[in-house]
Amino acid sequence: MKFDYDLFVIGAGSGGVRLSRRAAAFGARVAIAEESRIGGTCVVRGCIPKKLLVYASRFRQEMEDAVGFGWRFGEGQFSWIDFKRAKDREVARLVGIYSILLAQSGVRVVPGRAIVVDPHTVDVDGRRYTAEHIVIATGSTPSLPSIPGIEHAYSSAEMFDLPELPKRIGIVGGGYIAVEFACMLEGLGSSVDIWHRGNQILRGFDDDVRNFVADAMSERGIRIQTQSNVSALERMGNDTIELQSPTGQHGQYDAVLYATGRVPHTFGLGLAEIGVVLDQNGAIKVDEYSATSVSSIHAIGDVTARPQLTPVAIRDAGLLALRLFGKSPQAANHECVPTAVFTTPEIATVGMTEADARLRYEQLDVFKTSFRPLLHTLSGREDKTFMKLVVDRRSQRVIGAHMVGKDAAEIIQGIAIAVGAGVTKAQFDATIGIHPTAAEEFVTMR
Ligand code: NDP
Repeated sequence: MKFDYDLFVIGAGSGGVRLSRRAAAFGARVAIAEESRIGGTCVVRGCIPKKLLVYASRFRQEMEDAVGFGWRFGEGQFSWIDFKRAKDREVARLVGIYSILLAQSGVRVVPGRAIVVDPHTVDVDGRRYTAEHIVIATGSTPSLPSIPGIEHAYSSAEMFDLPELPKRIGIVGGGYIAVEFACMLEGLGSSVDIWHRGNQILRGFDDDVRNFVADAMSERGIRIQTQSNVSALERMGNDTIELQSPTGQHGQYDAVLYATGRVPHTFGLGLAEIGVVLDQNGAIKVDEYSATSVSSIHAIGDVTARPQLTPVAIRDAGLLALRLFGKSPQAANHECVPTAVFTTPEIATVGMTEADARLRYEQLDVFKTSFRPLLHTLSGREDKTFMKLVVDRRSQRVIGAHMVGKDAAEIIQGIAIAVGAGVTKAQFDATIGIHPTAAEEFVTMR
């Protein structure tokens, strides 16, 4: 009993909570500090409210589609206030569940801002706690560039609590958050302009996927302005905000969202002072066991340079608990992480893009299909679904699977099991389809 605790976790988001509970289940004495609400970004201002808003944004299209099937509705109306109230209720319920789970596991929650004082001591608002192991699980925060007028922009953290739905919104960025908010807000009736500095949105995704989804978003009425840098924001007299580019482009909006990446939350934690090495972006350097350069300090989740995805943080939390208290070290593996972007149409992907695969494999077989799903034969909508498989010709293994279309995330989650297990194209072909579905196209691509 040299220390107050066996484990002190800083940050009660998805990773920190999972780690605390797993460690406590191994018999460790655990405390967790949180300066805001239990649940972290994912539960409070990220994945969960986002997915609820995605659902809200898709009903209008579903009701329009239903007309082709014989349904008739009166004029629909969306209430942002009612949505916010329902969303807040659900987030509060989840925060409550997380708190109960921690209490039931015997984990002590210490509210307040924690600072690491030395390799075994944490200070929370003036009170000190010692622990054999300290884990940093403080996540990430939105990163906005320092340009004139940037104080007029919202980040994703504020978007769910806007007093009203903006009629016109300018969104800066071309990554996950920019394109998801663009589709959600368009679905709810806002007029949306994306200002993206690159040639195409969603850098890092397969090029066919990027082009397909950009075309689909444009057809829905979202204006995607590529090669559009923003040099300043200005609040105009009529209570609008103007985005201005160095080349004289400008646009006026009721609200501006900056979605230009997230930075690891390592500032002000006292880490560099005690020798924890950070990379050039401020992320904590960890090895595949989540160990930092200080032997008693470990890190998981967005605060490291690993993929900024909740399930990655949760997996790495479980592995770290196993190493520290289950005495069974296993390396984290981020080779084949499936991911989805909840645009409309939805994107989901696992494994390599075609471009990345060409750098690594000598020869590829690439299979693509694009089709109008059965739903839209009666809805009258021209929307198409896109699927793509990237196969290493030598081993015949499927090394990438990509989809854009309804339920893509639900479908790719299953395919990710097969791709992770090293499935071959012949095994895809030998699988009997479920008819009639869109998913069956994955096993009939020739
Ligand atoms: P991303 O890194 O995905 O995208 C950032 C975008 O902003 C890129 O298009 C980038 O352009 C652009 N950009 C960066 N800096 C600037 C700048 N100074 N001026 C103009 N444009 C800039 O970040 P997000 O904020 O969208 O999301 C953060 C992370 O959160 C994601 O990467 C993802 O890991 C996670 N996330 C996951 C979700 C999911 O699982 N569905 C949903 C939301 C977030 P360029 O391409 O040229 O670099």
